[in-house]
Amino acid sequence: MASKRDALPFVFRGDDMLVSENGDGSGVLPSIESVSLDSAFRQEVGVLDGRSCVAVDASPEAEAPEGTAFRNLLELSASLDDRYFPMAGRAKQIVAWNRETRFCGRCGAEPERVERFEKRCPRCGMMFHPRISPAMIVRVHRGDEILLARSPGFPPKIYSVLAGFVEPGESIEDTVRREVTEEVGVEVGNIEYFGNQPWPFPNSLMIGFTAEYVSGEIEIDENEIEDAGWYTAENHPPLPPRLSIARTMIEDYLGRFGD
Ligand SMILES: [Zn+2]
Repeated sequence: MASKRDALPFVFRGDDMLVSENGDGSGVLPSIESVSLDSAFRQEVGVLDGRSCVAVDASPEAEAPEGTAFRNLLELSASLDDRYFPMAGRAKQIVAWNRETRFCGRCGAEPERVERFEKRCPRCGMMFHPRISPAMIVRVHRGDEILLARSPGFPPKIYSVLAGFVEPGESIEDTVRREVTEEVGVEVGNIEYFGNQPWPFPNSLMIGFTAEYVSGEIEIDENEIEDAGWYTAENHPPLPPRLSIARTMIEDYLGRFGD
């Protein structure tokens, strides 16, 4: 049985999560005892190693207790324990869902919780579940090269594979073809499933594919892409963070051609 005393707290203030500051910045979760923050929302979101995991929404003014700090979850992904990261992402999304459904978008009443992850508007009956946005992520290859691109929102120097949200009425393969053509102007074929990953920034499910270059010269959509090019194991730019499916997909390919 998961005991309350041993619970693992995933405390969010905005998009930042509370971690212990134990000197090495390794992003360890604080003990539940140290978390006495006033919070309007606490919700069990799962169990890890027999310990109950609790999502907590701290108020925007909350101060981190002594020995702890609020840190950006995406930045923490570089150091957070691999097993904690998916649960932290789940907690972050549940906290955000609760915040973002305080009022019904159809009639303005306050929805009531009916299940753990379900609210219903008492006036008009509208249902609110945590929103998950499917997105494709695709590794386009041409011989020993892969196509990497930079979005304006990326950390400095980082390049990655292409990604984009599914639009209503599209199959995920339609999204792959459309986004690749829109973002970099090339045609792809042989689209194959690679794997998938929940990505809580803010609420994506990244569905990974590989695709072969068919035709066209790179011509970037400057609204979405800053730069794009063909890279090899020898000359590629800095890559996305560990724990991301993007990094896994890139290393999987470049690893075949490296030394
Ligand atoms: Zn309503």
